[in-house]
Amino acid sequence: MLAGLLLIGLGVTAPAQRPETAAGFVIGAATLQASASGTKVTVPVLTGGRRRLMSTEAVPADAAASVQRSVIPGSLVDYRVSHGDVVVPADPSATFHKALTKGTNPVFDTKKYGPELAARDGRPGDLVAAGWVFGKGRDEITIGDGRLVTQDIAGRRLPRPVKRYEETYRVARDAHVYEVNTADLSASQPSSFDRIPVTRNHSYTTLERQAAFVVFDRDYRHADAAKVRAIYYFTPHDTSDGLPVWDVPTQSALLKDKGTDPVSGRPYVEILATGVTQAPYTRSTEPFEIVKDTLYYVGDNEVALYLLHAGNRLILIDAGWPGSGYQYWTNIERMGFDPRKVTDVLISHGHGDHYGTARELLTMIENAGGQVTLRASREDVEGIRRDALGNAWTIPPAIPASESWLRTRYTPYVYDQFLEFGSVRIMPITTPGHTVGTTSFVFDVADPARRGHRIRFGFMGGYGFNGLERPTTANGFRRLSFPLGLSWLQQRVDVDYVSPSHTNQYPIVEVYQALKAYNNDPAHRRHPLTMLDALTTGEFANFNEKRYEVISSAKSDTQPGYQSIETYGPFKPGRETGEPDVAVTLLDGGKVIRGFNKYMNVNPAIPLLKDGIVIARDSYVHDPDGYYVQVYADVHDAYSGYLPGSGPVESYRATPGTPEILRTQRLGSRADAEAILAGLRAGSTYRVDLTRASTIVVPPDRPAFRATNS
Ligand SMILES: [Zn+2]
Ligand SMILES: [Zn+2]
Repeated sequence: MLAGLLLIGLGVTAPAQRPETAAGFVIGAATLQASASGTKVTVPVLTGGRRRLMSTEAVPADAAASVQRSVIPGSLVDYRVSHGDVVVPADPSATFHKALTKGTNPVFDTKKYGPELAARDGRPGDLVAAGWVFGKGRDEITIGDGRLVTQDIAGRRLPRPVKRYEETYRVARDAHVYEVNTADLSASQPSSFDRIPVTRNHSYTTLERQAAFVVFDRDYRHADAAKVRAIYYFTPHDTSDGLPVWDVPTQSALLKDKGTDPVSGRPYVEILATGVTQAPYTRSTEPFEIVKDTLYYVGDNEVALYLLHAGNRLILIDAGWPGSGYQYWTNIERMGFDPRKVTDVLISHGHGDHYGTARELLTMIENAGGQVTLRASREDVEGIRRDALGNAWTIPPAIPASESWLRTRYTPYVYDQFLEFGSVRIMPITTPGHTVGTTSFVFDVADPARRGHRIRFGFMGGYGFNGLERPTTANGFRRLSFPLGLSWLQQRVDVDYVSPSHTNQYPIVEVYQALKAYNNDPAHRRHPLTMLDALTTGEFANFNEKRYEVISSAKSDTQPGYQSIETYGPFKPGRETGEPDVAVTLLDGGKVIRGFNKYMNVNPAIPLLKDGIVIARDSYVHDPDGYYVQVYADVHDAYSGYLPGSGPVESYRATPGTPEILRTQRLGSRADAEAILAGLRAGSTYRVDLTRASTIVVPPDRPAFRATNS
């Protein structure tokens, strides 16, 4: 009142009545009504306890067309109403803000995090949630994704069962309830709380799952006090895929002793879980601390997300699958942090399973008044136009054109330099191949156990083939860049531990589950171990070796669909028939690389890890008795670091001479490899014979590296 009087006293016109924000569910297509004063857009929605036709104010025809295009039937939307008309803002496509859309895949969203109604006038929007209805009480409703964990991976009961993403909400007495018919949206109608069906139980064999969206009466700042003011439940019900769900990755070796699924009659270990986008509920896992107060795993059991904490900085590595954000953000909260306080998001590469929730996360942070820096590689966002030699290329980026928002607000990496976050440092390293801008990382953190000591984790940014299985005219430079990135990480990067970007690359989730089972054993409860006790060191080179051999070695030619570089190339220009007696100048003293050992993270202290974990996929390259000498070297021949007509390989790094990483043919023992290594000196020039795949020949009758006088 006082403020109003002051405004009038100062001669300012009193503001018009504030528009009100309303939420509704769109149950039909938007239609246009033109008149002399402009065009109105009319949308049928469920709101205010009934079916209503909401019409916008009259606007120019192009603005009305933009509104119409933006309205998606089957969506929960919010909008502003003034004098009975929906207000069309400066950006007409924002008139009906979409909070959630009911598609064919189930939608999950916890109360406090994720999508919410639009922020308006500097205020965050009210909260929304989505999932399957698992309970209904007097004035409350329970919604979740059905995940129920009662035992650890060793089969011992947990102290308490865990319903990981299930929440119970208070329902306002005057809440409106609607039944949405997704088979015929126009048949949707107001309903009542009593009529909401409830999913029968949490068993994976229960196929019928009752889906619902709910809208709260408060924003996130008052989440604890928030009550449900609207419930939209869906007919017909969702159907789950009926497949068993585990915390460990699908088909994990730790499922070997789990027996047989009574429904399909197949061993649990053989059942491949449904893909994440169709069934995010099948792929959740428990988040865990890796380094005390510093490094956490907050991903799912398929794609890894890491959270690093340093003072007031919260750094998230990758943003995971779209549709699984409810898991990641709850995981962050469970580790003791607020996802709205994330300050930095680093994307490893431009695929949807790594940036999938980035936009929602950024919106959530910014609606809360926070600021966040999003980093990604320039190559994945904008493509490659030039390499370090000045060669021009027109190589398209990894992200699709539709992700233009990312282009407008990302900060590109500067490679090979640490980003400093106080007690945490992260180095981005370019390792293209999987995509043109795949970025790997070193996480360098303080060792909580030893003052002044640092520990390092290696994160390889893109480990999968992604179209590199066979050579094509277009993929040549990526075929060669991929093993270059892997061998670069082996040769040039020293880390203690592996932090994989997917769980089928290194068994980090199995290691945690084995650790949890160990600590859950009454015999160990008084002396629990940590992840740093459970993880083994020195595995990064081995982890990279697997993929190196899968793409390089002729062993892969027997695998369906695979064609190795050794046999099928591409071969570097000038070496198509091999190159005898070529001069190479070593830029390092070389390293011995052991063949891939499929028994990863062997740890005798923890029963489930005593023989390590074997990840079946591509383990045919297992060859722990093979050894190689690998060198970083400048080769004095006609090859200049790129494939004409395809793209840059070594020439993408700004290093004079475009040095290569080369290795010898397989040696039968570590002693043989050490003997060769002993004769090598950094800075010296040797003569070697190269195969057409640029492998250093180990001749039976003379040294592989022959000294020259130069
Ligand atoms: Zn990818
Ligand atoms: Zn991926």
